[in-house]
Amino acid sequence: MYLKGCSKEHPFLFVTDNNEWPIEPAAPGNLIVFWGTIYKWSVGVQKTVEKVVIVGGGTAGWMSAALLKKVLGSVVDITLIESDQIATVGVGEATIPPIQHVNSVLGLDEAEFLRETKATLKLAIQFENWHRQGQSYFHTFGAAGQSSAFCQFHHYWCRASQWSDTKSLWHYDLNYLAASAGKFSKLQTEDARLDMPYAYHFDASLYGQYLRKISEGLGVVRQEGLVRDVLLNPDSGAVEQLLLDSGQKIAADLYIDASGFRALLLQKALGVGFDDWSHWLPCDTAVSVPSERFEQTLPYTRSIAREAGWQWRIPLQHRNGNGLVYCSRFMSDDQATQTLLNNLESTALAEPRINRFRTGRARQQWQKNVIGVGLASGFLEPLESTSIHLIQSAIVRLLRYFPHQGIQSDVVARFNKESKREYEQVRDFLILHYTQNNRSDCDFWRQMQSLPLPDALQQKIQAFTAQGVLIRDDQDLFAESSWLQVMLGQGLVPRDYHPLAERLDKTQLQAFFQQTHQLKSAAVKKMLAHDEFIDRYTRQ
Ligand SMILES: Cc1cc2nc3c(=O)[nH]c(=O)nc-3n(C[C@H](O)[C@H](O)[C@H](O)COP(=O)(O)OP(=O)(O)OC[C@H]3O[C@@H](n4cnc5c(N)ncnc54)[C@H](O)[C@@H]3O)c2cc1C
Repeated sequence: MYLKGCSKEHPFLFVTDNNEWPIEPAAPGNLIVFWGTIYKWSVGVQKTVEKVVIVGGGTAGWMSAALLKKVLGSVVDITLIESDQIATVGVGEATIPPIQHVNSVLGLDEAEFLRETKATLKLAIQFENWHRQGQSYFHTFGAAGQSSAFCQFHHYWCRASQWSDTKSLWHYDLNYLAASAGKFSKLQTEDARLDMPYAYHFDASLYGQYLRKISEGLGVVRQEGLVRDVLLNPDSGAVEQLLLDSGQKIAADLYIDASGFRALLLQKALGVGFDDWSHWLPCDTAVSVPSERFEQTLPYTRSIAREAGWQWRIPLQHRNGNGLVYCSRFMSDDQATQTLLNNLESTALAEPRINRFRTGRARQQWQKNVIGVGLASGFLEPLESTSIHLIQSAIVRLLRYFPHQGIQSDVVARFNKESKREYEQVRDFLILHYTQNNRSDCDFWRQMQSLPLPDALQQKIQAFTAQGVLIRDDQDLFAESSWLQVMLGQGLVPRDYHPLAERLDKTQLQAFFQQTHQLKSAAVKKMLAHDEFIDRYTRQ
């Protein structure tokens, strides 16, 4: 027997000569001396993972349950504990296109999904007053024009923008053309120029119920109960049992902490610490209220900058979801509530609710035998609707690295590294919106202009403004076209463009633009009004 890769952090890495795994060299708690260093043998981390307990029945809990059970099947037993005494956060209604992977893994019928969750289609977000009061732009899920191998479309457009008759970049973006016309259809075409990526707006509580129904249908056991205490193994420090209010104790090999902002296991019990990013993303409160739906629903989210934050409007089949995200140093709850109620444009259907939050993330998303998912692992605020996606990507990552034969510290480290990078990339994208504003009318927005930027974001902005170059990191959630649209929308203008854009003369370029626009606007003409699409599709 020998020690492999042993260190103070990995005192349990014993293997036999013939690599059998795992071998317990001594009773738990025994000390082992190796090359003069004293190690303590611990258990609870190396066991085969057969039983998973999820704490929390919000979107994070039920999405984790459904995905894990669907993919792993009988490999794992899954129990989800939730308490009727603690409400879910009750917001989280806008998504981004990768959610379709969740639906496809779960084998959901899209029409049923739309019916069950009262969903509408989402092609974009419209940002109003973000750059300047009275100005707006779209961040669509699509892309403008058509790029060639070495030269992206926007370089041609930058070159052409010196001519007075050049239209906006969005004029060549199918998602924009459809969204602004209030239309939607599923195009049956192989032509990549007519790709129209989309996501959904849905009712958060209906979505939770829907995921619950699916999970229970797959064999996930739901247990009602309040987790009163989290009991740790005194040697390994891993979670050993959960103590419920009823006195019942529940043990598992792996725990998913989906307990929302409480972060019962990851933060409270294991104390992983929190990277506080409120100096970059200072909004810390949201007030939300549902209101009556409008006659026509828009196939996009509206994000409207207000005095000390921004307002969302999310159209659903049966109502609008509304909220105002704000920085409490600049706006009181009463002011925020009044601002929201004054700007609903339809009758409120409930009392406004306040949610407090702190932007940032748990320092380790996976610690010992606990993985934090959803709000328990961090929150970057609702701008760009990334939070539900971060649940999805954490579970996909867990599935990729699933520790069936025992938890390996290298794998945990890898998981945590990827999660950190993902959060940081999203964070930088959000900071871009706030800091690159040109508003001089409010203290909040002026202060945002002077925030020091993270280095990676600074470099992205410099590369874009100098040469129109879009630097996108590997696995960045946001595509180049997303960075492009928000940079342009927030008023950043490249001083130069790619030399290949010079190879077409003015007449050729104009013909190229015209053809692109015609192709896309012809496709939009054939689409249905958004409501008509939903109506026909969900009646199937
Ligand atoms: C203002 C706001 C707007 C948002 N908008 C969006 C958006 O548009 N798009 C998006 O993607 N995301 C959005 N989010 C984030 C999104 O709401 C969450 O990511 C999502 O709802 C997941 O929440 P959760 O399941 O982690 O937590 P929660 O919904 O808070 O669920 C926590 C669960 O843990 C349970 N629990 C807690 N303590 C205990 C205990 N002791 N014992 C037993 N059970 C316990 C509770 O009962 C509950 O079931 C928004 C968030 C906020 C605050």
